[in-house]
Amino acid sequence: METPENEIFRDSISTITEEGKRAWVYPKKPSGRYYDKRKLVSYGLLAFLLASPFLKIGGNQFLMFNVLERRFNIFGFPFWPQDFHLFVISMIIGVVFITLFTVAFGRIFCGWICPQTIFMEMVFRRIEYWIEGDRNKQRKLARQKWDAEKIRKKGLKLLIFLIISFLIANVFLAYLIGGDRLLEYIAEGPFSHMGTLIPLVIFTAVFYFVFAWFREQVCVIACPYGRLQGVLLDTKSVVVAYDYKRGEGTNGRKKFRKNEDRQALGHGDCIDCLQCVHVCPTGIDIRNGTQLECVNCTACIDECDHIMENINLPKGLIRYASEENIKNNVKFRLTARMKGYIAVLTILIGILTGMLFLRNEVEANVLRLPGQLYEHKEDNIISNVFTYKLVNKTTGDIEDVTLKLMSHKGTLKLVATSNDFTVPKQGIAEGTLFIEINNSALTGDRNKIKIGVFAGDKLIETCTANFLGPRSYK
Ligand code: SF4
Ligand code: SF4
Repeated sequence: METPENEIFRDSISTITEEGKRAWVYPKKPSGRYYDKRKLVSYGLLAFLLASPFLKIGGNQFLMFNVLERRFNIFGFPFWPQDFHLFVISMIIGVVFITLFTVAFGRIFCGWICPQTIFMEMVFRRIEYWIEGDRNKQRKLARQKWDAEKIRKKGLKLLIFLIISFLIANVFLAYLIGGDRLLEYIAEGPFSHMGTLIPLVIFTAVFYFVFAWFREQVCVIACPYGRLQGVLLDTKSVVVAYDYKRGEGTNGRKKFRKNEDRQALGHGDCIDCLQCVHVCPTGIDIRNGTQLECVNCTACIDECDHIMENINLPKGLIRYASEENIKNNVKFRLTARMKGYIAVLTILIGILTGMLFLRNEVEANVLRLPGQLYEHKEDNIISNVFTYKLVNKTTGDIEDVTLKLMSHKGTLKLVATSNDFTVPKQGIAEGTLFIEINNSALTGDRNKIKIGVFAGDKLIETCTANFLGPRSYK
């Protein structure tokens, strides 16, 4: 099927030429009310992002994603492999929340919160403006031969980009291995930890590649969230949109002429100055309609507002609006789909809260040793052998720990350690134990027994296990 003429722009990507080569984007430096707000939000988020692996709550790192050791901290709350279900629910809540937000407000997350945009637009791009100047100067420098000025500017930029990429890589590593451990490694010297230094160099190279070269291609081509926009957005989603009714008028967009009565001539308010295109970091023309490449950065809103101010027309020709809002002048309201997402989100948050309240600080597991039956000893005593594992999820040692048989009269003996031990903070204690019960107290070949974990006199956790006995005693 042939693409309609007004949709032809969707057949190609603005950052790739017809020959398939990269079309480098030199966006104009943005300015305006939204850009000022985004700067403030970015500073806050950058501080949060850089500080989180080094902040602690109750002794726990504020945010940690230690994939190798399968330990995760979210807002200072530690998740162990045993809490995997809680971690999964938290992740699902995150996904539903972002989905709901996207259905309602489009790709607003990309423009305001995504670390890629924040680092690209608020850190690397601003350094580029500082060294190479605004759009026109950058284009001139790119065309310029490799003279002293170009070598100096490009060299300085490369060096600063590399240093920042290295810093970001360190912070990224702190999220993975823990802030304390990273600082420890730095103090001991990086060459004492080659296993960590090599990933650090790789991360630095990846960040440098992304921010110095790949740039907007992350949002346009690589990001899976960006690809989802097509299914999440509908005509009621509020996005950065061009008011085509106002912009095109009845006679289309026309260049600005002084003292011309545009309204009488039927001209739209768009004066085709292309400033919204020049300022766009993904190189698109928002006047073509909502596009997957748009990261909702608001730069075109600010730029068009400047133009409207200069020609004495009302601001907001490009603004946050939905297709319905522009077409039928309908105000934003919650759709059935949004209500559905809100209901799911509320239920999930309720489940997670309940599970967090019910979660034990100590996890105890006692399992029969695989392949072992039971031993029939003197005086009609039946003995079973078990393995035990205690996980201390708290940030303090748990001392004077004893295991006691609670459901039956009998004895519980730990192998190779006394039944009065310490489980280290955020650590594990494991081993083997024997339980002996008089046969007369058993009710069959399979008996459910209950074991209590005590810290001193205080019962801190219980668990159950199967105790085997002779079949004839059922
Ligand atoms: S900045 Fe505004 S007036 Fe200029 S081309 Fe874009 S939409 Fe039209
Ligand atoms: S179209 Fe506007 S909001 Fe979208 S990416 Fe370009 S400048 Fe940002």
